[in-house]
Amino acid sequence: MKVFALTILIVVQLAAASNSVAGTFRAGAAAANITPPLGIEINGGTAQVIATHVHDELHARALVLDDGSTRLAFVLVDACLIDRAVFDAAKALIFQHTGISSNHVSMSTTHTHSAGSVTGVHLTEPDPTYRAWLPRRLADAVRLAVNQLAPARVAWGSGSVPQHVFCRRVTVKPDATYTNLLGVTGHRVKMNWSSPEPAVDGDFSSPVDPEVFVLSVQHADGPPLSLLANYSLHYAGGVGSGHLSADYFGVFCERMKELLGAEKQEPTFVALMSNGTSGDINNNDFRKARLPQKPYEQIRIVAEDVAREMHSVVKTLTYRDDLKLSAFSTELEIAVRKPSPAEVERARDTCRRISLPRIATDAGRCGRDAGPVARGICRGEEAGACRGLANHRTGLPARFLSREPSPTASGRLPCISAARCRHRDGSAGQRPRPRSDVTRHAAAAQPPGDA
Ligand SMILES: [Zn+2]
Repeated sequence: MKVFALTILIVVQLAAASNSVAGTFRAGAAAANITPPLGIEINGGTAQVIATHVHDELHARALVLDDGSTRLAFVLVDACLIDRAVFDAAKALIFQHTGISSNHVSMSTTHTHSAGSVTGVHLTEPDPTYRAWLPRRLADAVRLAVNQLAPARVAWGSGSVPQHVFCRRVTVKPDATYTNLLGVTGHRVKMNWSSPEPAVDGDFSSPVDPEVFVLSVQHADGPPLSLLANYSLHYAGGVGSGHLSADYFGVFCERMKELLGAEKQEPTFVALMSNGTSGDINNNDFRKARLPQKPYEQIRIVAEDVAREMHSVVKTLTYRDDLKLSAFSTELEIAVRKPSPAEVERARDTCRRISLPRIATDAGRCGRDAGPVARGICRGEEAGACRGLANHRTGLPARFLSREPSPTASGRLPCISAARCRHRDGSAGQRPRPRSDVTRHAAAAQPPGDA
């Protein structure tokens, strides 16, 4: 059976208006810091990672345009995934405080793979405290931008950076047989991160979009005010272990500020990098073996190339303030492929065999608490004793957990829920000692914010 998900498509029009009054066009931009506390899970990868360091702060960046009668807001969030409930909560706050209706707000994540977990993906589950806190900060970014609305003019254009976008799906040669990591044979397309495999690798399965689009905003008297770019790169990656980072998206924004000579402006120049058609695009040319790099080296290379291209484009643009803004939004129904029951069972069996619990918990197994973290805690209780984060989320039978070694059991992962961990008989049991940098168990016991 097909399952349908809803997404929102917002189309923004900037049209030359013969009846607009020059000088009424205004713009404002701002960034709100959204860096979560250490100890939060990082999502985006295929292994569980706990944040132990902040390499660069995470932000929600906002640009607001106003032609005197219509106001639009763009918000880019340094997160991997954010689901509709969080964005809807933020949009409600934006409307409450600024009057900008939700269909005039374009809100998305950059898709950095090194940010706090807002929405569950792969092995990470959403952090309920961070989710509750975030909408207000997303709204704050827009409110700050509105506070700084000033006479402005805009221009737009595009450049091309083809050297960093590659389709990550590789065709399998017609006469080759490929067995994927799950032992399934016969697929005609493989992911490029396990390449090069000359015996089976054909060509890229799909085209890529190398365009970098830019909407450039200046103050009416000339200094740069903001810049909204769009590039179809999944992310760059190569961050330090356990690091929170905005990936190349954040470096690009800072680099644009430098290239435009806007480092010391007041109010602050704010650049935004949005993600384009990048679902099957990554930064890995499977035809070449990538040389070893230091953390952040590739991020800086990508950001520098994209920023320099943008800078060269911006220098050629002609700015105008006689514009009329308009926008409309609609919801699209998109088919989502779900794993079959047989595929789910196969995955569970794989987890059992490799002794690495990798199946997230589901709501139906535990009635003790509603939150995803609490569900994980219950999983620990089912096991007979709290064994730490990895075992909380396994969904595997207690006898398995008590028999198999795990990273948690060996003490390498802290128990983030020690305060609530109990043996099945209700006794406190041998509680793992929480580490000071792991804050989620305490946060999970707190009521959500007032967002
Ligand atoms: Zn991704």
